[in-house]
Amino acid sequence: MNVILIGPPGSGKGTQANKLASSLNVPSVSSGDLFREHKQSGSELGNKAAEYMSKGELVPDEITVNMVIDWIKSKKQAGGFLLDGFPRTLSQAKSLDAYIKPKSSIDIVLYIKVRTKELVNRLAGRFFCTSCGASYHIEFAPPKLANVCDHCESKLMQRDDDKPNIVMKRIYVYESETSPLINYYQKQSILKEIDGEESIDIVSQNLQTATIRNPIH
Ligand code: AMP
Repeated sequence: MNVILIGPPGSGKGTQANKLASSLNVPSVSSGDLFREHKQSGSELGNKAAEYMSKGELVPDEITVNMVIDWIKSKKQAGGFLLDGFPRTLSQAKSLDAYIKPKSSIDIVLYIKVRTKELVNRLAGRFFCTSCGASYHIEFAPPKLANVCDHCESKLMQRDDDKPNIVMKRIYVYESETSPLINYYQKQSILKEIDGEESIDIVSQNLQTATIRNPIH
C-alpha cells in the first residue's frame, strides 16, 4: 500500500506516521528527517537544505524530489511506503506520480487537519532530547525535570525552525504551497480528511480505519 500523510507543521504527522507505518507494515520516511540527517552529517545536500530550513522555506523541488525518489527506490522490495511531509508542492506531487506510474499508484492520501491557532501553540512548546531524540511539549507532555530528558537525562532543545517567527513562516508556506495538494488528491478521490485535534490515540485509530476502508488497488 502506498500512503501519503499531509498536514500542516505541528499537525502530528511525525508521531502518526511511525504508528501507521508499523500497523500497515510498510517503511516510512519523513523528508524533514532526511534533510536533518544530511545536515547532521555535514553533506553538501544537508548544507544546502539547511539554508532554506532555517528560514522556514521549502527546499527546492529538484533537491527534494531526487532525495525522496532515491529513498523509494531503496525500498522497492517492501511492497509499499508511507511518505510524511512529501509531496509538499504540486510539482513534487506530479514528479512522484510520473515516477511511480503506470506500474504503481498512490492508494490513499491522509490529510490531518488542525486549525492554525492550535498549530502555533503546539509548535512553540515542542522540545526534543539532543541525545535520544525523545520529544516533549511544555504544556502537553512536559519532562519531569525542566529541560532534562526523562529517559537519558540529556539536555532538551527546541528545533531552530520551531522558534515563533519561523513557525509563522512555515504555516504561511504550508497554506500557499502545500494546501493546493488537498484539491489535487481530492479530484482523484483518494483523499481522506482526519480531525487532528482529537487525542493522539483517537487520531491514530481514525487513520488506521481510513486505510482499512480504502480498497487496495
Ligand atoms: P518537517 O520536519 O516536515 O517540518 O520539515 C522541516 C523542513 O524541511 C521544512 O520546513 C522544509 O524546509 C524542509 N522540507 C521537508 N520536507 C520538504 C519537502 N517535501 N519539500 C521542501 N522542503 C521540505
